[in-house]
Amino acid sequence: MAETESAPGAQEFIPPQADTIDQLRAAAAGCQGCELYRNASQTVFGRGDERARVVFVGEQPGDMEDQKGLPFVGPAGRVLRRAVDDAGIDPGHIYLTNAVKHFRFELRGKRRIHQTPDRVHITACRPWLVAEFARLRPEVVVVLGATAAKALLGPAFRVTKQRGELLPWPDAAQRPQDFKRVPVDQAGKVADAPEAQLLATIHPSAVLRADNQDVAYEGLVADLTVAARALAA
Ligand code: SF4
Repeated sequence: MAETESAPGAQEFIPPQADTIDQLRAAAAGCQGCELYRNASQTVFGRGDERARVVFVGEQPGDMEDQKGLPFVGPAGRVLRRAVDDAGIDPGHIYLTNAVKHFRFELRGKRRIHQTPDRVHITACRPWLVAEFARLRPEVVVVLGATAAKALLGPAFRVTKQRGELLPWPDAAQRPQDFKRVPVDQAGKVADAPEAQLLATIHPSAVLRADNQDVAYEGLVADLTVAARALAA
């Protein structure tokens, strides 16, 4: 698949009058903000409780997610669900999404091999993430892996150095002003976003790729336990 240097971006596909995540999801099904929609099966939008206390942001849908149209339903999603449970986070109060909402892959024979999204895809898709956050009110945002960290926190953020550390949200974001004001009614009234915290950790797929999966998994659970404690505080 050829690398693209620019893309129009998702903004023009986002209906300004969309009040709910469901309305955003319906609009995202027709997004052509970058070239990834051409080869993927469908847009994989976020899912979960709109009033979720914890919002997880991953990289992009994988092969299984692309087929089912749902995020985190493949092997990495199973690791994440187990880690959420083990960390003591209520799975009924989470929302799961990705920085990039179409599956980027390379065909090798009949196999579709995951390809990390480029900066152009992350930038093109960011308006969906901003639109989701405008309709969510998390207490903790969990960023999963380097791609999601780049999308939300900028290219200088290093997950390896800052994982497990609670940071202020949205002040820690790249362009925090994108996340600071949120709509509060259908008449267009906006207010300051409620204060929240952000924590970065590894992507659950990194557990599956690790030489020592047990150690990697324990590290993921330890980071999520920090998020769980922040909820309880
Ligand atoms: S990856 Fe994002 S910006 Fe690109 S087409 Fe899909 S939804 Fe639109």
